[in-house]
Amino acid sequence: MLVGIDLGTTNSAVALWQDGAPQLVPNALGKMLTPSAVSLAKGGQTWVGEAALDRMATHPADTVTSFKRMIGTASTVTLAGTTLTPEDLSAMVLRSLADDVEAATGERPTEAVITVPAYFNERQRRATRRAGEIAGLEVRRLINEPTAAALAFGLADKGDREPFLVFDLGGGTFDVSIVEMFEGIVEVRASAGDNRLGGDDFDAALVKLVEPMLPAEALDRLPADRRRALLTLAAERTRRALSTAEEAEFSVVVAGEPLTARVTTEGFEEAAAGLVKRLRDPVIRALRDCHIDVKSLSDIVLVGGATRMPVVRKALTRMFGRFPNATVHPDHAVALGAAIQAGLLSGGEGLEEIRITDVAPFTLGVDTATRDVHGRFHEGIFAPIIERNSPVPISRMERFSTLADNQRQVTFAIYQGEAREVKKNVKLGELTVPVPPKPAGEVAIDVRFTYDTSGLLDIDVTVPATGTTRNLAIVDEDDRRTQKDIAESRKRLEKLKVHPRDEAENVALIARAERAYEGFTGAAREVIGQALTDFTGALEKQDPRIIAAAREGLTRLLDEIDAHSPL
Ligand code: AMP
Repeated sequence: MLVGIDLGTTNSAVALWQDGAPQLVPNALGKMLTPSAVSLAKGGQTWVGEAALDRMATHPADTVTSFKRMIGTASTVTLAGTTLTPEDLSAMVLRSLADDVEAATGERPTEAVITVPAYFNERQRRATRRAGEIAGLEVRRLINEPTAAALAFGLADKGDREPFLVFDLGGGTFDVSIVEMFEGIVEVRASAGDNRLGGDDFDAALVKLVEPMLPAEALDRLPADRRRALLTLAAERTRRALSTAEEAEFSVVVAGEPLTARVTTEGFEEAAAGLVKRLRDPVIRALRDCHIDVKSLSDIVLVGGATRMPVVRKALTRMFGRFPNATVHPDHAVALGAAIQAGLLSGGEGLEEIRITDVAPFTLGVDTATRDVHGRFHEGIFAPIIERNSPVPISRMERFSTLADNQRQVTFAIYQGEAREVKKNVKLGELTVPVPPKPAGEVAIDVRFTYDTSGLLDIDVTVPATGTTRNLAIVDEDDRRTQKDIAESRKRLEKLKVHPRDEAENVALIARAERAYEGFTGAAREVIGQALTDFTGALEKQDPRIIAAAREGLTRLLDEIDAHSPL
């Protein structure tokens, strides 16, 4: 059985594609959301979900939440003497969700679609996949959370729509995606986010606000971890209360003594102002990356529990000049979308019509050295080849040259990330190619990156002077992909590797424009010449969307010229 799972920072949920619709599966307590919390006791007893969260106040040192923030890092936590990785902890949550499905349907799920923040890097994705495996689930696909939410939103209201923005603020991460739906294709145009921003940070801001209002002597009696756990839990309760009231009471009980403070909406808004400001950047980045004007967005779709905060909604209304759309259930949309994806993979009824296209969530490139105006070398500079938010599948080539005299080989280290210095990005692999010894700069090396929808990055390095080629396939999402699968994917990608300049329809259009150019003089010739330059410039960009627009423009111009032909 294939299930869809939203493995959230704060809460997780599982859903199935059943009877032509996605359906959430309740946990043992009858709730659709299971807190992503784990608690252990000496002797190995384990609690997951609500029960673990309950132990947070009494056993903070043996209980952990928000471990999704650590996934893909080497951090571990030790609970009641047992050391666990973030993957182990995530696997415990996944196993508990699988238990719930088994209890509800009588069948144990064996496969899953798991959602991840669009902004998760390659290591975080791999670790999530491993968590699934530890839990005994074959991870058929990882899909981006906002894409899943968009599927749930789009399916609720079938039909084509203008681009809309999915604003997903969860417990620990923030994601923005711009999505379009057209003739059954759900197309993610751009994604951006901040994987260190969520409801947890608003809790921390509230703790900072109220701590000075509480009697210090009482708080000082608590050990540091217990103090933090108590205050954070109380802050979360207060924050939720502030979602429906202008004022709320913050209260914690220390040694039987209740400590309270009143928090007003205004006070909270002031305390959270810095965090609210950070919501803007990813929105701007996403809009900029896909060249979509904020006015052409049809909806602002809210996803993630933390979008319930009025301070966030107010900020959004100000940012977009209209009210956000709250028609999808902010806590359920992602799991429902994962179930729709599960339905798509298993050929679920009523889903034949839908396809999803996504974008590369981060920039991929190589490590290079550059020489400044004084002739000094600067090493470790990132040279992007596939830029973030390029539609996938995509293939792009860049030309590099040797840096030293008589260099015998060139090594390209492959990185993913946005920083200018490679050391701040994630290294994916390395490829070395021999070059003929020549003076510096005289040997050209072509590096082609081809990236497909399931995360296979295929790298070809060619030295045109000798014809030497080296190839490396980096499998992003599926460690276990077999050589045969890789060969098949590569075959599929072969046609992508044709430079757009050499594609038949572009060659034909250039020939047609050149004929038109030859047939005119003066101003008309200049116009055609410029249009031709623009078109070849667009081809160099190797971006199918830009090329399609440029091709349309040039064809229109040539058609117009033909329409005015004297014959
Ligand atoms: P998620 O990761 O999407 O499950 O979102 C969980 C976050 O949403 C947590 O930080 C919760 O505190 C927050 N949250 C859930 N419900 C509310 C609410 N009614 N008001 C404010 N925050 C909420």
